[in-house]
Amino acid sequence: MRAVNSQKILLIDSDPKHAEALNETAIITGGERATIECAGTLASGLERLGGPAVGAVFLNLFLPDSSGMDTLDRVVVATCAPIVVLGGAGDEAVCTEAMSRGAHDYLLEGRLDSYSFVRTARNVLERERAQQKLLLERERAQVTLNSIGDGVVSTDIWGRVTYLNAVAEEMTGWTSREAAGRALAEVFEIVDGTEHNACPNPVEAAMRQDHAVRVTPNCQLVRRDGQVLEIENCTAPIHDRNRRVTGTVLVFHDVSIARELVLKMSHLAQHDPLTDLPNRVLFRDRLTQAISWAHRNRGLLAVLFLDLDGFKQMNDSLGHIIGDKMLLSVAARISGCLRKSDTVSRQGGDEFVVLLPEVTHAADAAISAAKIINELRRPHHLGEHRLNMTASIGLSTYPFDGEDAETLIKNADTAMYHAKQCGRDNYQFFHKKMNLRNAERHSLEGQLRFALERNEFLLHYQPKVNLSTGTVTSAEALVRWQHPERGLLLPAQFLAIAEESGLMLPLGRWVMHEVCRQMRAWMDAGLPAVPVAVNISSEEFRGERFVESISLALKSERLDAHYLELELTETVLMWHAESSERTLEKLKAAGVRMAVDDFGTGYSSLSHLMRFAIDAFKLDESFVRNIVSSSDDAPVVSAVIGMGKSLRHRVIAKGVETPEQFAFLRAQGCDEGQGYFFNRPMLPAQFEKLLANDTHQSQLSADVRSSADA
Ligand code: C2E
Ligand code: MG
Repeated sequence: MRAVNSQKILLIDSDPKHAEALNETAIITGGERATIECAGTLASGLERLGGPAVGAVFLNLFLPDSSGMDTLDRVVVATCAPIVVLGGAGDEAVCTEAMSRGAHDYLLEGRLDSYSFVRTARNVLERERAQQKLLLERERAQVTLNSIGDGVVSTDIWGRVTYLNAVAEEMTGWTSREAAGRALAEVFEIVDGTEHNACPNPVEAAMRQDHAVRVTPNCQLVRRDGQVLEIENCTAPIHDRNRRVTGTVLVFHDVSIARELVLKMSHLAQHDPLTDLPNRVLFRDRLTQAISWAHRNRGLLAVLFLDLDGFKQMNDSLGHIIGDKMLLSVAARISGCLRKSDTVSRQGGDEFVVLLPEVTHAADAAISAAKIINELRRPHHLGEHRLNMTASIGLSTYPFDGEDAETLIKNADTAMYHAKQCGRDNYQFFHKKMNLRNAERHSLEGQLRFALERNEFLLHYQPKVNLSTGTVTSAEALVRWQHPERGLLLPAQFLAIAEESGLMLPLGRWVMHEVCRQMRAWMDAGLPAVPVAVNISSEEFRGERFVESISLALKSERLDAHYLELELTETVLMWHAESSERTLEKLKAAGVRMAVDDFGTGYSSLSHLMRFAIDAFKLDESFVRNIVSSSDDAPVVSAVIGMGKSLRHRVIAKGVETPEQFAFLRAQGCDEGQGYFFNRPMLPAQFEKLLANDTHQSQLSADVRSSADA
């Protein structure tokens, strides 16, 4: 910007009359009186111009040391202040030429009186002052526009670009200079974010409507290099003093990050982070919509509630990383069984819910359920692991099993629970009786809390038999609940409830003491006592004072520790392998025997199990069940028996029901067996008889041997 001082006038003129005329005047500008300085020669004038800035120069072109245009040219170079040329009466042509070479005005001889001086000086100074103000404002506006975070583009009335601020330059890829004069659409190309069609020109709309307009929502700016930015913008007309539209100004900003964040947030709020399947919120939404559609069109829809069988065991044994991989594999398999219009969601944990919005018959839903069950049964290859997984599915249908999302999901869940009780790995349709069972479950939970105080628990004992001799080697204690109204309840009917309601610890303590008390009673009665096995739940095993509580029970009944065997499942052992190892060492040192229950159903590797101080493997009944019928299970059973022997562990086969199974196991060299083929679990009094009756024992041995030989 020009540095001028509008309060100072410099007169470069050798004629003293002119200096006098000017000095006589009182030139007031901006409320202040201007001061006048005089220089009689060009040299002294130029010297003064080299000093502090002046507001205007009155210059006589004809000086002692210079004349004509030359004088002007040198002054023009020396100052930014406006120059008023003073000429002789006949110098009009010269003065006009001076105007074209940088002079702002001229005064001719004869009019160089005080009045003309004042008027001209004031005009020049005020014009200069106004111009300075304008420049200052423009500069300020420029700085402001460049420092705001929004892009600003202005156009003229024909929609041609006149200006781009720094942000607009950055965002469009055009410099203000390059863009100037081009059609707006060329510099500021916008398309809608969904269809990618060109958006209507905002300039035309703003001028036509004569007020600010916002462009289409979800708008994208296509940069000069083709890159796309999500933007929001507003275009407003520019008016002159007379409210006539003279152009437009567009203000816009990049909302890519904000828009992406919004999309991400809404996706996260509606999807499961692990599988990326819809979560329960989105599922409920879709189900509610599907119900309205089915209601209008008298249609049918089905909800499938799926829960993996034994997922918790697998997750606890192999860790969460494998657990997560399994969930991903399951999610992919379920999705693979469904149509595009179906929705599969993860509700949390190992629960998935599927919506089949268009089914013609309930049987269609059954086909989908069976398909999913079959698909999930195929082994899952997860890294180095090859794992089996099954699922239980409950189905409910609209409008038969509920008219709203809540009820349909709840009833499908109830049916799933029923599928679990029917042996898992199957599907069940909901029916109303199931709700009754749910209510029963709740009432059982309430009563279970008082069962211990009321002494309603009892133990049954099931013998384990030496497969070569048929003699009873030991027994397993199995808890029962003598319910005052429902009769004798089996563990399957109340243990899970006990676990869920935190009653497993007191119940386990009771079992342990009762077994020790019973053994002491048999011994005191002079019976040939055999060791008794007690099943240990994970809560008990993980309890802080587990080893101490066992020692205490044995001590209080003066029992030798080798009379006690603990049955622990692989899952319980693997939960915290390190601490399990230490606990087992302590128990082993005390003389207590240890068996791995349900062997073969867990996921632990053998090398892990070998670390533990174990005495026996109890082969799961699922293998025994199929040894005669399935070509797959027989070799597994043979291998386990061989392995047990090589580790010098006893191998006990559970669930032996038939002579064929018994014969096979005996032929394979399995040490012991337990099952209905020998004895069902029995009351202590019956077991007492079995122990007491040597004849019976030898009879049992004879029966066993002969049926196996037959
Ligand atoms: P488990 O340890 O596998 O016990 C064997 C189960 O198989 C018993 O079921 C027994 O009655 C049954 N069984 C025996 N022989 C046969 C046969 O030939 N065929 C068939 N199909 N089943 C046979 P029960 O008494 O219903 O016990 C079920 C489970 O409850 C037990 O399985 C055990 O895990 C748990 N349990 C029982 N008592 C206790 C206890 O005092 N504490 C803990 N923590 N768990 C217990
Ligand atoms: Mg057991």
